[in-house]
Amino acid sequence: MANDEPEKLLTHYVGGAWVAPLEPRHHTIVNPTDGTPAGTLVLGGPKDVDRAVAAAVAAWPAFAGWSRSERLDLLRGIRDETARRLGDLAAAISADIGAPMTMARTMQADAGVGHMDGFIAALERQPERETIPGDDVLVREPVGPAALITPWNWPVNQIVLKVGAALAAGCTAVLKPSEFAPRTSVLYMDILAAAGVPPGVVNMIQGDGETGAALSRHPQIAMISFTGSTRAGRDIMCAAAEGIRRVALELGGKSPNLVFADCGDALEARVRSSVAECFLNTGQSCDAPTRMLVERAIYEQVVEIAADAARNTRLGNPAEEGDHLGPIVNERQFRRVRDLIETGIEEGARLVAGGPEMPKGFNHGFWVRPTVFADVTPSMTLWREEVFGPVLAITPFETEADAIALGNDTVYGLAAYVQTGDPARAERVALALRAGAVHVNGQSMEYGTPFGGYRQSGIGREGGIWGIEEFQEIKTIHAP
Ligand code: NAD
Repeated sequence: MANDEPEKLLTHYVGGAWVAPLEPRHHTIVNPTDGTPAGTLVLGGPKDVDRAVAAAVAAWPAFAGWSRSERLDLLRGIRDETARRLGDLAAAISADIGAPMTMARTMQADAGVGHMDGFIAALERQPERETIPGDDVLVREPVGPAALITPWNWPVNQIVLKVGAALAAGCTAVLKPSEFAPRTSVLYMDILAAAGVPPGVVNMIQGDGETGAALSRHPQIAMISFTGSTRAGRDIMCAAAEGIRRVALELGGKSPNLVFADCGDALEARVRSSVAECFLNTGQSCDAPTRMLVERAIYEQVVEIAADAARNTRLGNPAEEGDHLGPIVNERQFRRVRDLIETGIEEGARLVAGGPEMPKGFNHGFWVRPTVFADVTPSMTLWREEVFGPVLAITPFETEADAIALGNDTVYGLAAYVQTGDPARAERVALALRAGAVHVNGQSMEYGTPFGGYRQSGIGREGGIWGIEEFQEIKTIHAP
């Protein structure tokens, strides 16, 4: 962690410099591991937002004129600097959100390199000019200064998916990261500066929802790329509607995981890895497989395997290496997760592992027991609401058609998961599920592939060429 970090947390990054706030409000940073105060963060007001947007607007004409090869060199420089600072990034993420060091480094921080590689490969392949029917010419241009608003749960992943795509397209930007992952964003601005991003091309305002709302209303912002809750996504769409400004939204999820009896000998391994995936990042992932739908013939067997997997999931100090889980990010989320576990019990779901009490040996901070409910029905809160904690809901199904209907019974559509030994069924079910990504038998996503959701999980896709296109306008030149 850099020594000047506490001072930087009291400033914003505008025009290539760390600047004192114009309208300071303060937020106490809390260590999720023990609940103690761990520093102070400044939250930006509308005047701070105006200053940052002015810097992005001023830098835009020159940056929009950069050639593709200049932008590619910039992206490669950021990628290399990110790889060099991977350990520091992992430490910042771990301190911010309580992610255990091993996953903070190998998954969270690593995404900063992987997604940038995805954008580099995509930009190398994207044609600069295309001839289209009528011998007309199609060119792509940057949409303009963009607002990038990110959540705390995968902080580097989400910042890089936006900053990388914006820079690849030739857009300047104002980033408003989450107030619950401030050290990570400070360090990422240092990485951008060290990699030679020109002053004003990427600016950062620390702040909360109020700051984000001021930024998303700003008339000089051409586009808003937002990742976070469906609630805030709705506010941002309304703010953008006034000026008919473009939005890209990555929102919540309640992703189904269909487990078929034809898994055969692989069943136990498939169920255990599904539970681990649901609990990864302490259940704080938008695409987590949180609703496990299980064919009736293997239902009780799967419930027992899942409960055993949960009971054997270790919690532990985020500063240590290992495959344990850390705490929940903050007190508000912690209370919400425990309330939802209590709601599950009150509504009659069968608690088979975990529960609302503090885990043994963890009396301070925001720790939750890895929890599994069986017999969750579509009328229950746990079926519908994103918990954002280590809580799995299990439900039986009778037929394949029944499983698909239950899987699609959600307002979301970010991801879906299928466990089956039959490739034809995998294909059939994957096509029938209404989600932006379907993972078969534990296959994970590669960097550079599209990520995003159907329905209330959002609008648009991030990653690779699809992410860059969100930040581009298409112009057709009709010339004789
Ligand atoms: P959140 O919506 O509370 O906050 C996200 C960001 O938006 C933060 O920077 C916050 O300060 C800002 N914000 C809050 N209200 C705003 C408003 N009205 N206008 C403008 N900005 C506002 O979400 P969170 O608690 O930080 O993150 C958890 C949520 O994010 C979950 O719902 C999760 O599913 C979702 N998420 C989605 C994806 C995805 O790619 N689909 C990825 C990660 C997280």
